[in-house]
Amino acid sequence: MQITVLKETERGESRVALVPESVKKLTGMKVAVTVESGAGIEAGSGDADYEAAGGTVTKYRGALLEAADVVAVINRPPAEDIARMKKGAILVGFLRPLDEPEKLKLLVERGVTAFAVELIPRTTRAQSMDALSSMATVVGYKAVLMAAAHVPRMFPMLTTAAGTVPPAKVLVLGAGVAGLQAIATARRLGAVVDGFDVRAAAGEAVRSLGAKFLEIDMGGLQTEDAGGYAREVTEEVMQRSRELIAKQARQTDCIITSAQVPGKPAPLLVTKEAVAGMKRGSVIVDLAGSTGGNCALSEPGEAIESDGVTIMCPLNLAATVPVHASQLYSRNITSFLSLMIKDGALNVDFNDDIIGPACAVHQNEARHPRIQAALAGKS
Ligand code: NAD
Repeated sequence: MQITVLKETERGESRVALVPESVKKLTGMKVAVTVESGAGIEAGSGDADYEAAGGTVTKYRGALLEAADVVAVINRPPAEDIARMKKGAILVGFLRPLDEPEKLKLLVERGVTAFAVELIPRTTRAQSMDALSSMATVVGYKAVLMAAAHVPRMFPMLTTAAGTVPPAKVLVLGAGVAGLQAIATARRLGAVVDGFDVRAAAGEAVRSLGAKFLEIDMGGLQTEDAGGYAREVTEEVMQRSRELIAKQARQTDCIITSAQVPGKPAPLLVTKEAVAGMKRGSVIVDLAGSTGGNCALSEPGEAIESDGVTIMCPLNLAATVPVHASQLYSRNITSFLSLMIKDGALNVDFNDDIIGPACAVHQNEARHPRIQAALAGKS
C-alpha cells in the first residue's frame, strides 16, 4: 500500500499534507510513503527529512499519482492530477464539498474514492482528526497578529512615566474555533475584547476567555443545529445584529470577523455605514472571505482602505504559518488514515461513524446529498 504526498500547486499554498513525523508513524504501520520532491520545503521539511523518516522522495509527480493507493493533499488537486489517479484510489484533503460541490464531478467520473476533511464529524471520537479546527486555530491567532501589526496603537494598557496608554478594543464576530482563538490571542496581548455570535452557547466560551459577550434578542429563534453549527437566522435578527455591531464599532480599534454558516454565503455583519462610523486607523480582518466575507466592503484576497479604515480579507491565512499548520493538519490526516490501515493494507469500513460521513465520492457516485444535487444540476 502506497500513500503519496504531493507538492501543493495552489498559488500561495505553503503547507504540506504530511510532515516527516507522520511519515515515520505511517511507515511504522508498514505502509510505503512516497513524497514529491520539495513538497515540504516551505513548511520547514526538506527531502532529506522525509527520507530520514522512512519516505521515498522522487520528482516524478505523474508516476507518483499513477502508483498511489492514497493521495494526501491540503487542497483539491488540479484536473490533470485527478486524471492520473488510479480508479479506486483514495484522495483525502480539503475538497470544499459544500462550497464547490460541482467541482467534485471529476472525482466521480474518475472513480476516485474521495474523503473531504470538512465532512469529518465533529464528534469526540474524531477530535484528533478535526482539520477544520486545527486550521481555524491557526487562522484566528494570525488574524489578531495582523490587526495588531497594522493598527496605529498598542494592544496592552501601559502605565509609564509619560502617562497611561489605554488598551486597544477588539471586537470578534463569530465565536467558533477561529473566533475563540482570536479572542484568546487578543486577550493575551492585553486588549479589551467583546465577542458576538448568534449561538447563545458561544457566550459561555467567550466569557471564559475574559471577554464580554454581546447579546441581542433572538426572538426565541433556534440558532444552533444538532451538529453545533449556526443556522441561517431571520433578516430581523440580522438587522438587530448589524445595528449592535455598528454601535460597538464606533469605539473599537480592531474587528475580527469569522462568522460562517456551513454551505451558505457568509452573513453580512459589518455594513458600509458601520465602517464609516469607525475611528481612522481602525482595522478589520475578515476571515470569511472564501464564502463572500462578513463586511460589506471586503474584497476577498485583498486589503483596502475606506475612510481611514483598513479592511483585510485574507483567503488562506493558515498558509502564512506553514510549519505549525502543516504539523497539525498532518496529525489530523494521519489519525484519519490510521482508521483504514490494517496490517499494512487498506481496510476501509464505510459503516464506521467517521469514515462513512467523511466520504464525499465513492465508486463513481457522489455520497453527500449536496454534491448529488449539484451534479444533478439542482443547486
Ligand atoms: P464556523 O466556522 O461554521 O462558524 C464560525 C462561527 O460563526 C460559529 O460560531 C457560528 O455560530 C458563527 N455565526 C454564524 N452566523 C452568524 C451570525 N449571523 N452572526 C454571528 N455569528 C455567526 O464554526 P466552527 O468554528 O467550525 O464551529 C462550529 C461549531 O462546531 C461550534 O459549535 C463549535 O463549538 C463546534 N465544534 C465542535 C468540536 C468538537 O466537539 N469536536 C470541534 C470544533 C468545533
